[in-house]
Amino acid sequence: MAGKFISMRNLKFLLYEVFDTVALTKAPYYQQHNQKSFDLVLDAANKIAQKKFYPLFEEMDRKPPYLENGQVKVHPAVRDIMIEAGDGGWIGAAFPEAWGGEQLPHILHCACHLITSAANYSAGVYSELTSGAARLIHSFASDDLKQKYLPNMMAGKWQGTMALTEPQAGSSLSDITTSAYPTDQGYYRLKGTKVFISAGDHDGADNVVHMLLGRIEGAPAGVKGISLFLVPKLRVEGAQLVPNDVNVSQVFHKMGYRGAPITELSFGDKDACRAYLVGEPNRGLGYMFQMMNGARIGVGLGATAIASAAYYASLDYCKTRPQGRKLGQKDPKTPQVAIIEHADIRRMLLFQRAVVEGSESLLMQCALYEDTMYCRPREEHEKYELLLDLLTPMAKTYPSEMAILSTSQAIQCLGGYGYCEDFPVEQHFRDCRIHPIHEGTTGIQGMDLLGRKVVMKDGKAFMLFLEEAHATLAQAQGLASVEPLCRQFEAALKSLAQLTAQLAGSAATRGAEVYLADATLYLEMFGIIAIAWQWLKQAVTSQKALDGKAKAADQNFYQGKLVTANYFFAYELPKIGYLVQRLTDGNPLTVTMESSFFND
Ligand SMILES: Cc1cc2nc3c(=O)[nH]c(=O)nc-3n(C[C@H](O)[C@H](O)[C@H](O)COP(=O)(O)OP(=O)(O)OC[C@H]3O[C@@H](n4cnc5c(N)ncnc54)[C@H](O)[C@@H]3O)c2cc1C
Repeated sequence: MAGKFISMRNLKFLLYEVFDTVALTKAPYYQQHNQKSFDLVLDAANKIAQKKFYPLFEEMDRKPPYLENGQVKVHPAVRDIMIEAGDGGWIGAAFPEAWGGEQLPHILHCACHLITSAANYSAGVYSELTSGAARLIHSFASDDLKQKYLPNMMAGKWQGTMALTEPQAGSSLSDITTSAYPTDQGYYRLKGTKVFISAGDHDGADNVVHMLLGRIEGAPAGVKGISLFLVPKLRVEGAQLVPNDVNVSQVFHKMGYRGAPITELSFGDKDACRAYLVGEPNRGLGYMFQMMNGARIGVGLGATAIASAAYYASLDYCKTRPQGRKLGQKDPKTPQVAIIEHADIRRMLLFQRAVVEGSESLLMQCALYEDTMYCRPREEHEKYELLLDLLTPMAKTYPSEMAILSTSQAIQCLGGYGYCEDFPVEQHFRDCRIHPIHEGTTGIQGMDLLGRKVVMKDGKAFMLFLEEAHATLAQAQGLASVEPLCRQFEAALKSLAQLTAQLAGSAATRGAEVYLADATLYLEMFGIIAIAWQWLKQAVTSQKALDGKAKAADQNFYQGKLVTANYFFAYELPKIGYLVQRLTDGNPLTVTMESSFFND
């Protein structure tokens, strides 16, 4: 199997031309890095992706994990991949040096994540989860727990997980019932069941460390009574590893993303499961949000990466598949043309490119806000925290929802062959379907955005976003070719601001249920505008590069960027028109519809 799954040229365009990533190295926190070291990191990620991840893309799908004698068996390469992630410093790449990390900017880590996930999404999940769990331990756990559990996680020998979901508590985490009973021995005795836990058990690691949400006996009801625990599969007792009464009851059979297991886990069947409290009691959900926010960006990256791989597979096919003739050519004796010559195929390719490169840009923007925080004094952190907080639902959801449409268009480009296993696009379509579901469904993200984030701190985050968007408009001044895009974008921002004020203003009188009934549509609209913002940035950068006499070899790249930006503004941005209409309409149709009306 050979092929292109991501554009390194585009990643470098975003890193070095759209976002001035190298400027981060002026700050003391990132001063040990420079563009050369960034390029070396990108090349290393690409090498692993090409040599280790990509060759296993299909095989890991065809040989999914299974349960044997209480242990989940995964592809034998997983162990090797985990160790390489540890030895190569990938698990701790973005961690501070004081934690044994590389202090690599998140935006670089983000690019590397895109590269490896485009090659094989499942293969990268094991180490990403371990990295997130390790970060949580670093931030909030006691020194004793850090010493006992972190070194082997950082080395890629032990798996980390996030264990939140329970059969009766999926989206509704306030209904978690896994119970922790205090002992006088410094640990809690745990009892409960968790479902859908990614990499919850497998033979590619020697131990599994669960970062688990549970409820201490007698804790208040709801989210105010949730605590965070570290629960190992094998607990460290002196030099010994002792089984901790964590049992796998099921490994689920999934439609895609089959290279990684999701498990049902049972804790404390024999009353012998020890859980160690992380941080303070009843503050667990707040701590877990650190991992969840990172994971939400990670989901956006995964979706984008899969859509990228599907785009390049379909692009390759469209360049070589002869079918039909140009309209107007009536002579059947003339040779057929490659299907990329047909306007409808180009439309589908442009759609995919617009989704992929727009999403990549938004995700890097979020990573850059996080990095900028590390470079600025404490009193300036709030601005970047708020922007990141506000944009996270879009950065998770736009790529997740659009990757489904984008990979579907990739299949469409291949016609009947796209529907068959001989080509990778059907797997990409299956693999990306998970993303609107895990780490908070699209519905939950919509309510988080409209119910909390746009109104938090009197709309401060929202105002900051508008300022950022207007700063981009200012950068476009004087560029005639992007002038029409600017006018359209300005109008979209105005609609968004008016609509948001109208919705938020009527929230109290109309009640929460009506206010949030179409929150998903609001999220969809905001997502399209956030991506339009990123396309405007890319168009401005490309036009300036062309005006500055870009190298001949780069002319096509920048021209292609401008056409794709124009595509987004012509075909995608106008979709907000319908959304604004629906959202201002105010008729609470879905609220007034009775459940019984669905009968028969
Ligand atoms: C492949 C995979 C990997 C996963 N990995 C992990 C993991 O590592 N750790 C972990 O803890 N969990 C994990 N999960 C669980 C995942 O996060 C949950 O599936 C998700 O949170 C949704 O919960 P649910 O499946 O119970 O669906 P439900 O919560 O029952 O939701 C069903 C539908 O109802 C909607 N809905 C629910 N409540 C509301 C509401 N109040 N208002 C409006 N709509 C609502 C949802 O948006 C959704 O469309 C994973 C799941 C999968 C499939």
